[in-house]
Amino acid sequence: MKKTLQEIAEWLNVDAGPFANIVVTGASINTRTLEVGDLFIPFRGEQVNGHQYVEQAFENGASAALWLEGEPNPPQNRPILFVKNSAEALQRIASCYRSELRATFIGITGSNGKTSTKDLVAGLLSTKFKIIKTQGNFNNELGLPLTILAIEPDTEVAVLEMGMSSFGEIEFLSTLAKPQFTVITNIGEAHLQDLGSREGITKAKMEIITGMPEDGKLFFDGDEPLLRQAVAEIPNIKAVPYGKEEANELCLKNTSFTAEGTTFTVEGLVEGEFMLRVLGEHQAKNALAAILIGKELGLSTDEIQSGLKTVQLTDMRMQVIETKGPTFINDAYNAAPTSMRAAIQFLTAADFGKAKWLVLGDMLELGDEELAYHRDLAGDISVDSFQGVALLGSRMKELYTALKPTFGEQVYWSEEMKDIQNFLKQHVSEGQLVLLKGSRGMKVERAIEPFI
Ligand code: ATP
Ligand code: MG
Repeated sequence: MKKTLQEIAEWLNVDAGPFANIVVTGASINTRTLEVGDLFIPFRGEQVNGHQYVEQAFENGASAALWLEGEPNPPQNRPILFVKNSAEALQRIASCYRSELRATFIGITGSNGKTSTKDLVAGLLSTKFKIIKTQGNFNNELGLPLTILAIEPDTEVAVLEMGMSSFGEIEFLSTLAKPQFTVITNIGEAHLQDLGSREGITKAKMEIITGMPEDGKLFFDGDEPLLRQAVAEIPNIKAVPYGKEEANELCLKNTSFTAEGTTFTVEGLVEGEFMLRVLGEHQAKNALAAILIGKELGLSTDEIQSGLKTVQLTDMRMQVIETKGPTFINDAYNAAPTSMRAAIQFLTAADFGKAKWLVLGDMLELGDEELAYHRDLAGDISVDSFQGVALLGSRMKELYTALKPTFGEQVYWSEEMKDIQNFLKQHVSEGQLVLLKGSRGMKVERAIEPFI
């Protein structure tokens, strides 16, 4: 952005003082990530008072700062705007800036799959447009306005994730962002306690349409009867259901998994075969939203096919990574017994036509029974399915002992990633497939390093 302090002061209805001509080029609430030219917005938190960092912000290159009225000792001779509420000021600035932008805004919510869908939509659209997307999980009442303030005047598409934990939050975010297109990925059970029922969750997610203009369009999980019903109750809404069931306007068919990724076909509004560099039926379904939005923005089926193939989801969830050695499936984002089992079973069942290996790290924070949880995984790991197993971390010693009788020399254990890397270098070759999984603290993805 490029705004004078005077313009921002007018948006906030406050006085810019003697520094009215200073130019603000962005906004930040954190001195560590602040960029030169940013407006620094301090928050008075319970533990930390951001006003202590205002001077630091100026030293780091902030163009100006907000200051809460009543907060003692405002800096002298600095471009400061006095406000009553930091969050409201940030939201107000974002909202005024939003109304000047010509970019197409896309808002994405749902119980699960928001970040994945956001990354798929943004990855696809980035092959044709100048885009911006929510970074990581920056999807709330502060993250969303900050994302809006990072949009440049020539940005063509903004892909925004919208999260919530209670009623009214998505309405607020949608009203702020005014998305032309919206997506509801699914209705799950998250926040059931606060929202009372799955109907309540549906109602809360449907708030995403409040900020849509009349000609806006909602894309939604058409396999969810509650969403279908909620949409049917809204007169004149433009809404497109997608999903696995035949009744959807875009229908997912023939999902299959190879060592390159997930292959699927779609029927309905778009027809053709598509490929994703990530394994999982959920992700294929999320990709339907990306296909529909791509089509809406004028991409041809060819362009969508080749675009989706290049999209890399960065979240280490069943992500396919080709190397000069083996192909890795990086699921090292996190692990608990259920997800560990699900990943191992997925690999066992899928026929990739390649020898398969497991690299598993400790599952942390499991409490008193932790060793048993590690040992019990042996029941899911068969020599008929896996060529070998490398295990990282003190708790995985249990699994090592359990697998040793069947796997012999083909199971390896160490507490050092360097040893695991050496073992893989010696035993795993090109054309083979390696699943990486463990708790975040184990950083099992480091196993890839020697091969890239
Ligand atoms: P958060 O609320 O943490 O921001 P999110 O909605 O952004 O979550 P993702 O991070 O994209 O969700 O995915 C989290 C997990 O949800 C995935 O690993 C996958 O297991 C599951 N998931 C992804 N897409 C779907 C979907 N369409 N339906 C159901 N589950 C899904
Ligand atoms: Mg998310």
